Amino acid sequence: MNILEILRKKRDGKILSEKEMKFFIDSVSHKTIPDYQISAFLMAVFFQGLNFDETSLMTKYMVESGVKVDLSDIELPSCDKHSTGGVGDKISIPLAPIVSCFDIAVGMMSGRGLGHTGGTLDKLESIPGFNVNLSLEEFKEQIRALGVSMIGQTEQIAVADKYLYALRDATCTIESIPLITASIMSKKIAEGTKNLIIDLKVGSGAFMKDLDSARKLGEYLIEVGKINDINTRCVLTNMNYPIGKMIGNSLEIIESLELLKGNITEGDFYNLTVYLAAQMISITLKQDFNKSCKMVQNMIISGKPLKKFEQLVRWQNGNVDSIYDYNLLPSASIKRDITLKMLSQHQSGYISNMDAFLCGNAANYLGAGRFKKEDSIDHGAGIVINHKIGEFVNLEDSIFTLYTNNENSISIAIDCLKKAIEISESKPLLDELILENM
Ligand code: URA
Repeated sequence: MNILEILRKKRDGKILSEKEMKFFIDSVSHKTIPDYQISAFLMAVFFQGLNFDETSLMTKYMVESGVKVDLSDIELPSCDKHSTGGVGDKISIPLAPIVSCFDIAVGMMSGRGLGHTGGTLDKLESIPGFNVNLSLEEFKEQIRALGVSMIGQTEQIAVADKYLYALRDATCTIESIPLITASIMSKKIAEGTKNLIIDLKVGSGAFMKDLDSARKLGEYLIEVGKINDINTRCVLTNMNYPIGKMIGNSLEIIESLELLKGNITEGDFYNLTVYLAAQMISITLKQDFNKSCKMVQNMIISGKPLKKFEQLVRWQNGNVDSIYDYNLLPSASIKRDITLKMLSQHQSGYISNMDAFLCGNAANYLGAGRFKKEDSIDHGAGIVINHKIGEFVNLEDSIFTLYTNNENSISIAIDCLKKAIEISESKPLLDELILENM
């Protein structure tokens, strides 16, 4: 078999056979074809798509490119949550310790920032010393002891996805239903979870910009889950505006800790955390959803999830003191308030738009994300949102505080934020946070 035949076939919109899909994925994981041919394949799939069978085969061979974790000897039932990627989306950080307090094994394998979206691993690594690179044996041992572990994909899990993920980021081929399905599900199948909640983001800051494509992605994810014996539910959630009030790695750790400490009890970040935790509990323990919501709220108030997070940080070599003293987290030498006037607005009014994609890009320019896979990130960089969508603001009010260690990045970040903000005279009707369940 020859890679050129496969590229030609997909370029022309033909359906690949099982052998061809296996050949391609094997060639990726054994590095027997160059990045430019892999990139050409990704771009061909981006335009021509893969049908469900091809997607399912791609997932299968991506799982087989690495090892599979067997959690069957862990007594607790298992559940994981995965987000398709958003801006200010730090939900996994409080969610994992909360859900594990319900005697559910939460073994999370997360990713790094992709495009304009942030990544859980980058956020966790802003805790000094925190090690996301555990071996699979250590991962299992931790789940057995604590009921929770949060790690990166490891060298052995879905090896092909690691290469494809980085190349998709560098070739603008992220927003593809089959590629997202194979990427997410190969990791989840390999990780060994039996229950899965997918936070399927929809809107300007998401890879799925509209409900129709989000539903199609949801169908693929659920179907691939079913074939592989993973009980999968998708929650379609609004990603037109950033989640919570902080974007950036150590800033999002601080916001997550504030939720676990009981200091955030309302707003989109809190509501979505409670909703997704309750979904995980209800799907895993086969329990009523509304009852699960109440139990999650009470669990946060009890302080147990904060203690669980402390244990998790200690176990993974992170500095536990930083949970209580935020000065120990990476910070920024420059903190700049950006008023409504500085965003080229001429009158006070209600914030009627705060575009998540542009806010995510602004945070990346400040240093919070990568533009190339080799880029290093500045864990202290990011944006604090002082006023959220729907609030009334005056020209002198500070809408954003920018955090950076690079003075030169500020003007380009402000340019993004100028485009991100819209002001209206009347109070805008806000979109729902939870759009649909599948
Ligand atoms: N998360 C993943 O793991 N993969 C994608 O392709 C998108 C989001």
